[in-house]
Amino acid sequence: MRLSRYFMPILKENPKEAEIVSHRLMLRTGMIRQQSQGIYSWLPLGKRVLDKVNAIIREEQNRAGAVELLMPTLQSAELWQESGRYDDYGKEMLRIKDRQDRPMLYGPTNEEMVTDIFRSYVKSYKTLPLNLYHIQLKFRDEIRPRFGTMRSREFLMKDAYSFDLTKESAIHSYNKMFTAYLRTFSRLGLRAIPMRADTGPIGGNHSHEFIILADTGESEVFCHKSFLDRAIPAADTDFDDVAGLQAIFEDWTSDYAATSEMHDETAYGAMPEDARISARGIEVGHIFYFGTKYSEPMGAKVQGPDGKEHLVHMGSYGIGPTRLVPAIIEASHDENGIIWPESVAPFDAIIINMKAGDASCDGACDTLYAALAKAGKDVLLDDTDDRAGAKFALADLIGVPYQVIVGPRSVANGEVEIKNRKTGERETMTIEAAINRIA
Ligand code: ATP
Ligand code: MG
Ligand code: MG
Ligand code: MG
Repeated sequence: MRLSRYFMPILKENPKEAEIVSHRLMLRTGMIRQQSQGIYSWLPLGKRVLDKVNAIIREEQNRAGAVELLMPTLQSAELWQESGRYDDYGKEMLRIKDRQDRPMLYGPTNEEMVTDIFRSYVKSYKTLPLNLYHIQLKFRDEIRPRFGTMRSREFLMKDAYSFDLTKESAIHSYNKMFTAYLRTFSRLGLRAIPMRADTGPIGGNHSHEFIILADTGESEVFCHKSFLDRAIPAADTDFDDVAGLQAIFEDWTSDYAATSEMHDETAYGAMPEDARISARGIEVGHIFYFGTKYSEPMGAKVQGPDGKEHLVHMGSYGIGPTRLVPAIIEASHDENGIIWPESVAPFDAIIINMKAGDASCDGACDTLYAALAKAGKDVLLDDTDDRAGAKFALADLIGVPYQVIVGPRSVANGEVEIKNRKTGERETMTIEAAINRIA
């Protein structure tokens, strides 16, 4: 992508409305634009990051055996009347009427709809276990939307729903998502800690919120410091290994970790003082086993091996991609701008042409660009005639992992300079070596 042909509306000034660094940087770099309160457009730079986040989420959901579909944003109120949640949901639900005066709503979540799909097709235990997910917009009329896409009214959610014949099997489905979540957040460059969450009337210990520690987080959290360096399950984890996944679950829940709603001061106080972490956190994911809460009122049953009908045991598993993007920035930035982890960076490298229009600089940039593109890298070429200082500041601000600086003097020697955005290290090398370094 040539910067001169791209659409990246950089703001010169810090926007006044942004209270936290991620919001400020997302606005400054032209990643997002607020269209009305708590409702955002994702501009091209932001869209690139969001797509990379979604791709990682999707890969890990698929690896864990979940199956992707796409359900609509608009739902009929009828389904929610069946489950009993239409009246309970309150003002967070955006209620709409169509031209026939039929009550509709913009889905805040999809338990009812997915249960309806399930009951329409699945009649036998032989189809189970089944986990269906989608990545789709949700709407919640939040009382206090803030911090940009961290807490917006319209937001993207990856929501998965598992269906099992028995509770035991549902717990295995839960462990699959638990493990997939550990891997997902780690690949996004984040350390997320599963914390015990309220299961309400269902009880049990099968609800966890995945929390990123951050001073700007809205939750108050307490945990053991062991979570900061606990090993993440490997890519070749066998998701059909019931005991193996249970062992991962037990390992990751063996030390104390809870949000303020579930906090147990006695258990926390029993830990050695230097092991205690009391901090603020961002909820980036939430998983829940809820048994027959929806299958019962909505009649989602399958025939079991015993020939009898059984209500299916369900769980739901959410991740907020549009919240994750700012969460990643909160975890990874400096005074000059964003520092993207390589896995989600909008571009792998930016080539900075220090003298656009100079034949040797233009030629070296084209060579680098073509070779990196051929190697499958996403490259931004700053071919503008801005002054050097502005170009460096822009490259730092948008946080691309590698900056390749192409100036007339070094190019005369067949060399360029590479700067690593994260470490700040600079190195002069041949064009060939630069290509090999990044590709
Ligand atoms: P919160 O406690 O922050 O209001 P929640 O518990 O209501 O979140 P869930 O219903 O558990 O959210 O939804 C699953 C995930 O969707 C959350 O863990 C979060 O990552 C994301 N999410 C929820 N609400 C929002 C929002 N208003 N804006 C952005 N992401 C959200
Ligand atoms: Mg909420
Ligand atoms: Mg919550
Ligand atoms: Mg939640």
